[in-house]
Amino acid sequence: MDVLIDARVAEDISRRVIVDAKFRKRKIDIKDIESFEGMMKDCRAQRGILVCANGFTHAALRRAQKAITISLVPAEAIESLDIESWYPCLGKCAMENRGRTAGWVLYDRPLGLVQRDSPLTILAIGKCDGCNDFHVWCWDCGAHFALRGEEAEHACSCRRLWLTERVDEGFDERGNHLESIRLLLVVPVDATPLEHETATESPLIFAPVEVDRRPLN
Ligand SMILES: [Zn+2]
Ligand SMILES: [Zn+2]
Repeated sequence: MDVLIDARVAEDISRRVIVDAKFRKRKIDIKDIESFEGMMKDCRAQRGILVCANGFTHAALRRAQKAITISLVPAEAIESLDIESWYPCLGKCAMENRGRTAGWVLYDRPLGLVQRDSPLTILAIGKCDGCNDFHVWCWDCGAHFALRGEEAEHACSCRRLWLTERVDEGFDERGNHLESIRLLLVVPVDATPLEHETATESPLIFAPVEVDRRPLN
C-alpha cells in the first residue's frame, strides 16, 4: 500500500481511502484485486484505488466493478483523481432517509466525452457505497443526480439522456449465469442520409454508450 487517507466527508463522517500505486509490468489481474480487497479489510478502508500502469484484465475490471468500492485508475489519470470529492447519496439512501447511515458517493474519475461538432464534455460518475446506485455529475449544466435501480432514466438540463438497464451477459466458463446493470449515456452519432436528393441535412441517430456497469453476480 502506498497511501492511506482519512477523508472527512461531512461534519462527523469520514471515509478511509487507500491508494495502491505499485508499479507492475504486467496487467492487473483478478488476484491483484482480491489481495487489494483483503488489504482494504485489514486497514478498515471503505474505498480503494488501484493505479494500473499497464492496464488490467477484463476479469479484474469485472471483479472491481462488483466490489463497488474499488476503482482501477490508469497511471495517466492520477492527476485528475480527487479523493476529497464526496457527495451524499441522492438515490435509495436519501429516499429511505437513512440519516447517518446513508451512503456517500466518490466521484473518483472524470470522464471526457468527445462528440463531433460539439465541445468536449466532462462528466463524473460515481456509485453510492451504501445502496450502490449510480450517480452522475454533469459538469456542463452542473446537474447532480442518481439513477435508482435497474430501469431508471434521467435527462439533465443539457438534455443528455441517461439510462440504466439490466443485461444478460450469458454464461462464464464455469456455467454461471452472468447479469449486470449498465449505466448508459445516449449520445448523437452522425449518420449518412439514405436519400441524398430528399435529405436537406444529415439526420442524427442516437446511440447509447456504456459509461459504467455493476455485475449482479
Ligand atoms: Zn445510496
Ligand atoms: Zn447536463
